[in-house]
Amino acid sequence: MNKINAEINGAKNVAIAGHIRPDGDCIGSCTALYLYLCQNMNKLGLEKVDVYLEPFGNEFHILTGVDEIKHNYDTEETYDTFISLDCGSLDRLGNALRFYNTAKKTINIDHHISNQAFAMVNHVVADASSTCEVLFTLMEEDELTKDIAAALYVGIIHDTGVFKHSNTSEITMNIAGKLIKQGIDFSTLIDESFYAKTYRQNQILGRCLMESILVLDGKVVFAALNRRMLDFYEATSADLDGIIDQLRVTKGTEVAIFIYETDFHEYKVSMRSNGEVNVSKIAVYFGGGGHIKAAGCNMHGSVHDVINNISAHIEAQLKEIEGANNQL
Ligand code: AMP
Ligand code: MN
Ligand code: MN
Repeated sequence: MNKINAEINGAKNVAIAGHIRPDGDCIGSCTALYLYLCQNMNKLGLEKVDVYLEPFGNEFHILTGVDEIKHNYDTEETYDTFISLDCGSLDRLGNALRFYNTAKKTINIDHHISNQAFAMVNHVVADASSTCEVLFTLMEEDELTKDIAAALYVGIIHDTGVFKHSNTSEITMNIAGKLIKQGIDFSTLIDESFYAKTYRQNQILGRCLMESILVLDGKVVFAALNRRMLDFYEATSADLDGIIDQLRVTKGTEVAIFIYETDFHEYKVSMRSNGEVNVSKIAVYFGGGGHIKAAGCNMHGSVHDVINNISAHIEAQLKEIEGANNQL
């Protein structure tokens, strides 16, 4: 793919969207691209840039431009160019799919190994830490501003767990350095968007940890929130960020699983791997996707069905890994 400016050329109006239940990388990349295009409107001959995302937590309102993101998709508007960010497949675009369907040109910028290359122009860098990292390489560096840098930085810290996950590379750190050079208040961005929790979030986290169980001889830690508990805490999906990360640091575990009920006997599943288990493979098997060490899917059935079905895949992979190690 060419740099953004070249790919946009000729478009009068552009729509930007990311995946459903947007996370920090999704919000950061959409905001950064929005600000980047807005400041270049005249140069690019653009008349309109709109960003569509499902509602998300207040912690992201620390970024300039976030308040202009549209949450209402109920419009007849069509766009010359549609840009999908941080989204691996069309079903994950949610209501923004209508803008993809009616656009003259579609662009897909992402870093999911499971990305289905669904657009006319696809730029997927599976070993990049985040979509924000990929997006940075498509921007002209001398057009970077402090606000764009802040949005990209927030995306990177969210997908790398503040530069801690194995997807963090030398390239990631070099880019982070260039973003810091723009004068961003990185300490505040990290604290406010990543670590700060509401009282409600902490209560839910505590409950999940207390009620978590170990399976497969302690190799898997598992926690679930059913509808009744979510209603009790009046929790939205944005209140559940970070629970999986806390489960993952349980000593001795290979995989952490967190599920919550989105509808009766329908669960959103998050998986994280600490070792060699490929959770993306499991997520893809159940119709989802993600990365080797962080993936998700939606599953039907009872809590027991979900944990039993996933455990069987983890157990099979662990046996395979053990077999391969024994042959060495
Ligand atoms: P999560 O557990 O929701 O934080 O997601 C971990 C990673 O897997 C992220 O990169 C998500 O974009 C991806 N992912 C989560 N759920 C799904 C799904 N249902 N389909 C495809 N990818 C997913
Ligand atoms: Mn994401
Ligand atoms: Mn991402």
